[in-house]
Amino acid sequence: MIDNAKWAKYETLRPTEIESICKKNPIAYLPWGALEYHGSHNPIGLDGIKAYGLCCDLAKQNGGIVLPTVFQAANLISSYQGVDFKKHSIEFSEKLIKLTAEEYIEQLAKQDFKIIVLLSGHAGEPHLQILRDIADYYNKKKTATYVYALAEFDIIPDHLLVANHSAIGETSLQLYYQSDFVDLDSLPKDRDISLEIDAVYGDDPRPATKELGAEIAETFVKNASKEISELKKRYL
Ligand SMILES: [Zn+2]
Repeated sequence: MIDNAKWAKYETLRPTEIESICKKNPIAYLPWGALEYHGSHNPIGLDGIKAYGLCCDLAKQNGGIVLPTVFQAANLISSYQGVDFKKHSIEFSEKLIKLTAEEYIEQLAKQDFKIIVLLSGHAGEPHLQILRDIADYYNKKKTATYVYALAEFDIIPDHLLVANHSAIGETSLQLYYQSDFVDLDSLPKDRDISLEIDAVYGDDPRPATKELGAEIAETFVKNASKEISELKKRYL
C-alpha cells in the first residue's frame, strides 16, 4: 500500500494499513456480483466486475476499503420462466444470500467499519430485495454502523441507465471497466435482439460504447458520493 493511501483493496492489506485507512475513513465497500449467463457478448461475471469497478471508483473519491467481490447470487436467468438458458450460471439459494449478507455485515461492523456500502450488480428479484431488507433490518437496530445497500440504477437517471440484463447499459459499463471481455461482433447484424435468443433484457447492446460506460460510472460516483458525504456527517 502507498503510505497514507486514502483507499485500498482489503485482501492486499496488512493490519496496520487497514487501521491507517480506517482512522480517517472507516468505510467498507462490498461489491456483490453473480456468475450468470449474459449472452454471447458479455462475460459471466459482468455483474461483479461492474460492481467492483464502481466500488473502487467510489472508494477513490470517498476513501475506505474495497472488499473482494461476492460472486453469489440467486434468481438468475437460468431459472427465469419462458427462456432457456440453463448453462453458464451458478445459482445459489435465497437462504444462502441472506446468510452471507448477514455474516458480512455483522463482522464488518464488529471490525469498526461505520459505513458499509453494499452495491449489488445483480438485479434479479427477490435477490436484490433480500439485500435491501437485510440492510433495513440492520439499520433499524440503530447501531454505530450504517449499511447503504443499493443497485447502480437506483441513483442514475433513466436516460443514462435503467435496470437491464446485458443490454446497452451493462454492456457499456463492461466496456468501460474491462473492454477485452466483450465481443459485440458475436451479436447478429441482421435481426432484432431479443431476450429469448440473446439473453438481453433492455435496449439493444450493439451501440454500447466505453464512453457511455464512463458517463454512467461518473454519474453513479457523483450521486453515491453525495449520499456517502451525508452518512459521514452522521456516522464518522
Ligand atoms: Zn447483469
